[in-house]
Amino acid sequence: MAEFDYDLFVIGGGSGGVRAGRLAASMGKRVAIAEEYRFGGTCVIRGCVPKKLFVYASQFPEHFEDSAGYGWTVGETSFDWPTLIANKDREIARLEGLYRAGLERAGAEIVESRAVLLDRHTVRIVKDNRTVTARHILIATGGRPTEHPALPGHEHAISSNEAFHLEQLPASIAIAGGGYIAVEFANIFHGLGVETTLIYRGKEILGRFDMDMRRGVHNAMEAKGIRIICPAVAHNIGKRADGKLAIELSNDETLIVDQLMLALGRSPNTEGLGLEAAGVETGHIGEIVVDDYSRTNVDNIYAIGDVTNRVQLTPVAIHEAMCFIDTVYRDKPTTPDFDAIATAVFSQPEIGTVGLSEDEAAKRFDELEIYRAEFRPMRHTLSGRQEKMIMKLLVDAATRRVVGAHVLGVDAGEMAQLLGIAVKARLTKDDFDATMAVHPTAAEELVTMYQPTYRVKNGERVA
Ligand code: NDP
Repeated sequence: MAEFDYDLFVIGGGSGGVRAGRLAASMGKRVAIAEEYRFGGTCVIRGCVPKKLFVYASQFPEHFEDSAGYGWTVGETSFDWPTLIANKDREIARLEGLYRAGLERAGAEIVESRAVLLDRHTVRIVKDNRTVTARHILIATGGRPTEHPALPGHEHAISSNEAFHLEQLPASIAIAGGGYIAVEFANIFHGLGVETTLIYRGKEILGRFDMDMRRGVHNAMEAKGIRIICPAVAHNIGKRADGKLAIELSNDETLIVDQLMLALGRSPNTEGLGLEAAGVETGHIGEIVVDDYSRTNVDNIYAIGDVTNRVQLTPVAIHEAMCFIDTVYRDKPTTPDFDAIATAVFSQPEIGTVGLSEDEAAKRFDELEIYRAEFRPMRHTLSGRQEKMIMKLLVDAATRRVVGAHVLGVDAGEMAQLLGIAVKARLTKDDFDATMAVHPTAAEELVTMYQPTYRVKNGERVA
């Protein structure tokens, strides 16, 4: 008789939990994985994947416009929101099926229920009101949109969760926040024809990104017709008799809109999980505190993904899952590597980035060479669109290493993936220079910027 019912009990069927559960089961471990909602987690069900489908949908009006310069006449166009939602839901259901099938094929037991810790080895399956035991427990319950209870009238606002299921596309929307989600959704709604206003509390949207990317995307969004109000915050939300919302702002303006979406960050899902009963320590926003190996203070309980509030990105959660497997089941203790994570903001235009921003790099290196190009990409020549691309490489002058690479423009996300390899591999500017250009592409600019545009010495820009 085994000491425990399972070798591993995973709580949470998102990107991190599913990867860990599937790998452990495929190694012959007895695994159960509990999910109270739908397998796939935020990324698949109400995050990255449906968002990207919405981005594609929202880009068609510009494609229609741009086609004229290439000789096309596009007839009358119209957009049907319910069709998009239904097709998106069908795709999400298909992906959810793949996640489940992968787990089942590997031999993991799927538990469709909330699971709560009773102690360090015991889990209660809430739906069946039964308890099971496991040698190891992995918590991968993710996060949810941060609420803003201090804002009077916040209950009238939606989050990204609801944005994926609105019955009707609103005529106008205000979005509060200046991060990934706020910026991506502002572009989505605008592209779909919604009058869109972004309200951000800071001086420039997309804090933590390179300033050229931040300004560039801000300017491009305004040029498209998205209103950006910053710095400002909402003070009060009132619901009017006609159903519209009146948003009172700190700049004394009142916005009248059909919907308000809050995109103010995401909070870890740790409430009611039984963490106190199991003795698991949490941090100041409720995140599970883990060591470098994703282990909590209770040595058989691990946590990965957004619930730990380290880097809130799907590929990071998956990477943490694989490190967990190496550490616990392959006798190869492995710490997740958070250095040089390439990422994209699916704004319009997109941002693709890896490594340090200029401001961060200027603090770390005595002398930087900045290679910067701003140009109209070829695809916009005949279309007449004025949107510019920006490309930027930051080079540590002492070692010639490329320490940051940033792209604003079409397909920047795709470029970031490949730039990520170069920056992760610590390649130098000379390696970039030695690389033959792919012509004619926009990306060739990345290997043909031979002279620095300017230098930064001891934090100061010099010619
Ligand atoms: P972010 O952390 O990116 O942005 C949160 C924004 O809300 C910031 O602009 C922040 O301002 C602002 N904010 C926070 N609290 C308040 C407040 N009380 N009043 C006014 N403004 C406030 O979070 P998101 O919600 O956009 O996204 C969550 C996470 O999901 C991201 O960190 C990202 O890791 C991930 N994600 C990744 C995507 C991708 O890879 N493409 C897409 C979507 C999400 P300030 O900057 O001043 O702090």
